[in-house]
Amino acid sequence: MQTACEHKKTVMIARRDGVDYVECLDCRQIFEAEDLEPVAVDADEE
Ligand SMILES: [Zn+2]
Repeated sequence: MQTACEHKKTVMIARRDGVDYVECLDCRQIFEAEDLEPVAVDADEE
């Protein structure tokens, strides 16, 4: 069973053009640090 990840544990992995990118340690998703929007183009909307 998968539960929705709240991305509470993140680490910064990169910075580009003044944007910090973070990775969630729980689900391994990559986000922009500012808005926690997934960077990967995996548009699975529920
Ligand atoms: Zn997560």
